[in-house]
Amino acid sequence: MIIAIDGYSSCGKSTIAKGIAAALNFVYIDTGAMYRAVTLYAMQRGWVNMNNDVRINQEQLAHSIDDIHIHFEVNPETKTQQTFLNGKNVENKIRSLEVADLVSEVSKLAFVRKKMVALQQTYAACGNIVMDGRDIGTVVFPHAECKFFVTATTQVRAQRRYDELLAKGEHVQLADVLHNIEQRDFIDSTRSESPLRKADDAVLVDTSNMTREEQLTWILSYITQYRK
Ligand code: C5P
Repeated sequence: MIIAIDGYSSCGKSTIAKGIAAALNFVYIDTGAMYRAVTLYAMQRGWVNMNNDVRINQEQLAHSIDDIHIHFEVNPETKTQQTFLNGKNVENKIRSLEVADLVSEVSKLAFVRKKMVALQQTYAACGNIVMDGRDIGTVVFPHAECKFFVTATTQVRAQRRYDELLAKGEHVQLADVLHNIEQRDFIDSTRSESPLRKADDAVLVDTSNMTREEQLTWILSYITQYRK
């Protein structure tokens, strides 16, 4: 069974997806982490940077796209999923605001999406999976059995993300986090390659006024009904 969870930035998708995976013993795949890892790879080589606008050395990145190897491992102590880029744990690095500021521009590139989507589709072989992202229900797994489209107001999403970054010890301003979320929403939903949109058969979940527990309980009961 494949469960697809799409939605806007910082709407709680990954928390929901992790909760489903833990409750139902599914494999969880965070596709945002994959695009973040590609972005970090390009940043480390100076192939993407921002002055007033974002500049990407597309030629170099396209040439090296097959040298980018991403995999996930679960840390046995913390039980959290860690993202590895060419054998190195980059979980903390890919969550920074610097990466967040550039990732949507990198994710617009057709050759990046082609590579990531192909890799994501291979995970179907893992059996039961829950995958979150922007195009899972529309492009990666259009025939997924259960699809959710998660949203929340921009203010609520920015506050949640800001709290998360502060808890991790990152020194950020709420206004910068809000700006980043608005920018990513805009780029992700207006790009020509697989833009963020709700699949016609996805269930809309607005989490603005729901606690994490309420979100998970609601979605799990929906899935349970579906499986009956
Ligand atoms: O989910 P997360 O916020 O980590 O995703 C980071 C960025 O990766 C998104 O803003 C989007 O630009 C890109 N992304 C995408 N397609 C996906 C998942 C993420 O374009 N399936």
